[in-house]
Order: sequence, then C-alpha cells, then structure tokens
Amino acid sequence: MDSVNLVIIGSGCAGLTAAIYAARANLSPVIVAGTQSGGQLVTTSNVENFPGFPEGINGFELMENMRTQAERFGAQFLSSAVERSDLSEKKLYLDDQKKFKAKTIIIATGASPRLLNIPGEREFFGGKGVSVCATCDGIFFKNREVVVIGGGDSACEEAHFLARFCSKVYIIHRRGQLRASKIMADRALAHPKIEILWNTIPLEICGEKKVTHIRIKEGERERDLPCSGVFLAIGHIPNTQVFEGQIERDREGYILSDGAYSSIPGIFVAGDCCDPVYRQAITAAGMGAAAGISAERYLYE
Ligand code: NAP
Repeated sequence: MDSVNLVIIGSGCAGLTAAIYAARANLSPVIVAGTQSGGQLVTTSNVENFPGFPEGINGFELMENMRTQAERFGAQFLSSAVERSDLSEKKLYLDDQKKFKAKTIIIATGASPRLLNIPGEREFFGGKGVSVCATCDGIFFKNREVVVIGGGDSACEEAHFLARFCSKVYIIHRRGQLRASKIMADRALAHPKIEILWNTIPLEICGEKKVTHIRIKEGERERDLPCSGVFLAIGHIPNTQVFEGQIERDREGYILSDGAYSSIPGIFVAGDCCDPVYRQAITAAGMGAAAGISAERYLYE
C-alpha cells in the first residue's frame, strides 16, 4: 500500500482546482481521475459564465487547461476509480488494484445524470436514441425531431444546442413554469424551433431498434409524440455511494460539510458531491481551492 500526503478523488472543476492548489503547495497530490478525466464540463459545449472568458470557453478545453496547470506543478493523475474505501483509516482501494494510505483525502466525485426509470429508457440508451448529452450525441439527430426532458438550465441549454441541428425540439416539462434562470428560459421560449409541452409527463420511450416516439401524458390525456431522440436533463445524483456508511451524508447522498470540512478530520470535500444548491463550475472550483488550502493546513499543523 502506497503512503501519500493527499489523494484527490475526482477530476472535475473541484478536483482539478484542489489539485492546482495542493500541487503548488508541494503536497505531490495523487488524483484518482476516473476513466473520463474532466467531469461533467467535458460534455458541455460553451461555458459562458466562467469568469475570465468574455466570449465563453469550450468545456473540454477549460478542463484540459486545468489539468495541464495541475500537472505543471507536479500533480500525478491516475485513470482509475475508487472501488472501495476505509475512510476512518484513510485507505483507498482502486479498481486497478492500486491501494493508498493517505494523510489527507479530498472527495470531489461530482454527480451523475438522474434517470427517469420509465420503460424504454435503458433499452434505447447509448446510440439507440436516449442520451444525457446533447453535445456528445446531438449531431446524430440532424434534421430530426427530438425531445428534451426537464425544465432547468440543463434542459434549456440542451434544447438550444439541439435546435442547431434538429428540425424540431420539444421540451417536456412536468410543471407549468421553467425552473431555469431567466436568460436560459427566455432563449428557449423565444427559439422558433423549440416548443415546450407544459404539465407533461413522459410515460414510455418506444421504438423497435431505435426510438420512434415517446408516450406522454398531458393533463389527463395520453398520446404518442413522434421523435428520434430523447435527451434527459432532469438533474443529478451525487457520486458518493462508495462512501456509504463511512461519512455523514444527507438523505439524497450529498456529503455533509462545513466549508471544506467533512465529518472526518483530514477528509475534505468539494464540488457537486456536497453541493445540492449552486452546482456551478465556478462554485465547484472555489470549493476545490478551499479544500486544497484546508488539506495543506491540516498537514502542516
Ligand atoms: P435542476 O435545476 O435540478 O432541474 C431539473 C429539472 O428536471 C427540473 O425542472 C425538474 O422538475 C425536472 N425533473 C426532475 N426529476 C424529474 C422527473 N423524474 N421527471 C420529470 N422531470 C423531472 O437540474 P439542471 O437543469 O441539471 O441544473 C442543475 C444546476 O446546474 C443548476 O444550478 C443550474 O443552474 C446549473 N446549470 C447551469 C448552466 C449554465 O448556467 N450554463 C447549465 C446547466 C446547468 P421541477 O422543476 O418540477 O422540479
């Protein structure tokens, strides 16, 4: 088992910012980056609200820049994931058989897209019409009609992006009002190719080899809406299952924190795994910086 100063679990905005701070403080952090480094932002098209980029920046590029910055100061990245943990001993067991005993740990594992759990969703997932990422899959639906489920910023952003390629984009939302911020909502409402179906619930995603339609319930009425793609944008679930029973979490699984501090001394948290409220790239980055600084202070005190 390797002994290290600091293991950072996660390579999204929070993990990478923590890595930059910790590496600059000479802690030689090891980052357990997962198979896809960069977190949720690598699937975002243009990030318009990260300060310092007046024209916006591509999400993938932003994350690549952060990783390069962390590597420049000596952060070591592993393309593996934590399979098992013993947080009370600060021991981590990775899926590539590596084991670490760390003096400090920063948990920045982020969150994953929530699923609807309706018939057809899993069956048509990945290449057959159901997706959680318009940036990744939108191009496959050129000149087709598609559906986006949800009423938040993600749903509006996904719909706006898809409207570039698709002939028509329906937003299916279960309420009569969008949850999205005003600027995102206004953009969706004003777009000639986007139509919002209010107070509508998806019941089943249907097709043969690929999606052909979605069965929906509008008020009391059920009907089939023809579409080739269904994009889910209904929020996220924190990636904290591997720590279940070892650290204090809320009912939804978000790790409880006081600033960067978790319920265990020497274990710090940052980003979407502990933030059900803001969930922004910049807030995750800020929390990552706080976690990096806190880990450094803990080690030197
Ligand atoms: P969100 O704000 O939690 O919205 C999720 C949406 O999905 C809500 O409208 C919710 O309906 C709906 N929903 C949840 N479960 C559902 C179900 N089982 N069936 C049908 N609908 C369901 O999530 P988000 O849009 O992913 O945004 C998360 C955070 O990221 C927010 O803070 C947002 O501001 C931020 N974000 C920012 C940007 C940007 O600024 N560029 C882009 C994307 C996301 P209800 O409204 O009825 O609850």
